[in-house]
Amino acid sequence: MERLIAPGIWQIDTELGGWTELNAVFLVEGRRPCLIETGPQRDSARVLAALARRGVGAGDLAYVVLTHIHLDHGGGVGEVADQFPQAQVVCHPKGLRHLADPTRLVAAASMVYGERMDSLYGRMAPVAADRLLGAEDMGALDLGDRRLTLVHSPGHAKHHIAVLDDATGVLLVGDAVGVKVPGGGPLRPAMPPDDFDRDLAINSLHKFAALTPSQLVLTHFGPAGEPQQVLSEAEATMRAWCLVAETAFLEEPSVDHIERALLARVYEPAEDPSRQPVVDTLNGFTSNAAGMHGWLLRDRQQLLQNGQ
Ligand SMILES: [Zn+2]
Repeated sequence: MERLIAPGIWQIDTELGGWTELNAVFLVEGRRPCLIETGPQRDSARVLAALARRGVGAGDLAYVVLTHIHLDHGGGVGEVADQFPQAQVVCHPKGLRHLADPTRLVAAASMVYGERMDSLYGRMAPVAADRLLGAEDMGALDLGDRRLTLVHSPGHAKHHIAVLDDATGVLLVGDAVGVKVPGGGPLRPAMPPDDFDRDLAINSLHKFAALTPSQLVLTHFGPAGEPQQVLSEAEATMRAWCLVAETAFLEEPSVDHIERALLARVYEPAEDPSRQPVVDTLNGFTSNAAGMHGWLLRDRQQLLQNGQ
């Protein structure tokens, strides 16, 4: 279902995996409305039904913006683009070729998701190249009576962008600030493979703080509380987790060892036990351990190269 979270901004629950309050897409109303995120391919019928309920006709939608091209955010892009033939599909320039031909993206995702790929997410259908638009950092999208600013925010992924609604000051942050689902415990950083980078991620949090948003909205899931406080908490938690990972990596540079260290040192259970599998499925410790392992390996390679 959908819920109005700010003037003209609807949060649509994609009900990923049959779970509510886990994964969202956002409709920004205007003379030329914009959809931010499409959700996974498996949930596209639900998203399209919600857009129909909001009165968005086939010729109305002007833009579809993906904060990044992970399947929970953009897997349904082909289905949505088909339904709204006037819409331009916007993502960071590094993501465009994968939207035109998702073959490699889907193959890489199936390595990460394994058997959950088809049951939870589905795959991704291509979008015609002439409908794709690369997001410029701090570039704007004109919705007629309001404007969205696109904010390059690498860290979670190199090609991550956030979207600032100039009319309300709401900043839709994708996964750059982390994951916090109702009942699922405190804010967790989201640091998946392949290209998580701590310093870039923390720079992105600082960039968000400088924009003084009125509200931060997480794709997983929803409005996140007092923005500057949430950003400080996100930075502190990310630094703490990365320190645990770095210490473990120096003892034994394996994903398993990092995961065990995280579970021993930073794990906090969900307040509501039924929400534990929900948050663990979407943003589990294995994925975070693997993301930080990759970052630490690249960091070490960099140090070795610089030393030569
Ligand atoms: Zn995500």
